[in-house]
Amino acid sequence: MTDTPNECLIRHATVYDGSGCAPYAADVLCRGGLIAAILPPGSGHAAQVIDASGLALSAGFIDVHTHDDRQVMIAPDMQAKLSQGVTTVITGNCGISLAPWVADTAPPAPLNLIGGQDDYRYPSVQAYMEAADAAQPAVNLGVLIGHSTLRVNAVADTGQPASAAEVVQMQALLSEGMRAGALGFSSGLFYPTSSAAGNDEVIALAKVSAAHGGVYTSHIRDEYNGVVDALHEACDAGEAAGLQVVLSHHKCAGPANWGRSGETLAVVTERRHRHPVGLDAYPYTAGSTTLNPDYVDGVIDIMVSWSVPHPEHAGRYLKEIADDWGVDQKEAARRLLPAGGIYFQMREDDVRQILAYPHTMIGSDGLPHDAHPHPRLWGTFPRVLGHYCREHGLFHLSEAIRKMTTLSADTFGLRRRGRVQAGCAADLVLFDPATVKDAATFADPKQAALGIVHVWVNGVHALANGRLTGQRAGRVLKRDQERFSGAPA
Ligand SMILES: [Zn+2]
Repeated sequence: MTDTPNECLIRHATVYDGSGCAPYAADVLCRGGLIAAILPPGSGHAAQVIDASGLALSAGFIDVHTHDDRQVMIAPDMQAKLSQGVTTVITGNCGISLAPWVADTAPPAPLNLIGGQDDYRYPSVQAYMEAADAAQPAVNLGVLIGHSTLRVNAVADTGQPASAAEVVQMQALLSEGMRAGALGFSSGLFYPTSSAAGNDEVIALAKVSAAHGGVYTSHIRDEYNGVVDALHEACDAGEAAGLQVVLSHHKCAGPANWGRSGETLAVVTERRHRHPVGLDAYPYTAGSTTLNPDYVDGVIDIMVSWSVPHPEHAGRYLKEIADDWGVDQKEAARRLLPAGGIYFQMREDDVRQILAYPHTMIGSDGLPHDAHPHPRLWGTFPRVLGHYCREHGLFHLSEAIRKMTTLSADTFGLRRRGRVQAGCAADLVLFDPATVKDAATFADPKQAALGIVHVWVNGVHALANGRLTGQRAGRVLKRDQERFSGAPA
């Protein structure tokens, strides 16, 4: 275990408590992994004192949309996240989770975004959680169970809707994972492993999550011309199953749909009158996923993020590669497979409107295994704080922080996280609001952000003066423990 100083005082901090209200000056005392007390500024005493003068103190950021299932184990220092002030990641989004896996087969796209056949080796969510805890990651993780993962394990032909017996088998796998402490169920009806599923199949599974008090997150079937119908489909499933819906990485994709965010957000607002709906978004006009020739339209720019047969082309534009090879972009994409792509598919005004929507949480959707990843992996949270909040005034800092902390914690049932409040977990970030800034770019994406000064995870000092301390105190956050009990273990 890590060598933990039991007590730490953060003195003269400007506290953003996550409520969205104006900040206040205070000393914050942490003890035994918890926030022990919030004291008048300058009044506290402790064995270790950090001077927070001029700095903002917030609950550690919760990255609600990640594909870090395997990353927490193979790179447990989690530098890309910790260096942004992130203290908890939600894994298993978009229908893609590393567990449970009982199939004797290689993971097809998009499951190959997070690992190969050797990596899919946890027969149960419980086994996955034990392995993640054993790796001692530097950040906490909450686990979602993916529909595509369930389908590859239980459905004979993933190009077809599941039979009644196959639905029962998926429900059993999902139920076992929910009992182990998963936070919910995710789907990605956009992807070939799941697109044959009708909403009845999704509802049957979402009901299992609902029975355990879990959520349903959805990478919807169509983010292009069919975006409104696809939003309704996801909301229909959540309403029928009776649980919280999270619309993943919301966007209006493709030039034909640019400018439609007012229309799509009106759908969300309307559906929220009937049942709980939230969404997450990242602060960029490009998305990223597997490279698929079907997604290549010759109109939007596409950058290659990885390629198995042609690793030398990671970081290059598909158009340049196609020109070099004397073929069209679809053919170039075919030759690069299996591969990943960064799609410049959104417009700035939509991104801003979606980020500013009051029910939007911040989620990176970062892809940690890509050779040349989208910069959202390293830059999402500081980019919201620096570029969109400070430089463009899209919202107040207290509102930006709410979107990264309390809104996220409450949506996923993490009651003792995401807030600076006595009795809550001491997951904290201290940063300079005047300088915080993302450094990762599309050309040079693996760059740590500036202005993130200190981070504590479960009271342990994980980042000090911008550098990793090597102390790793994250753990798997299980639904029941987070929801009903007080102190973290
Ligand atoms: Zn997705």
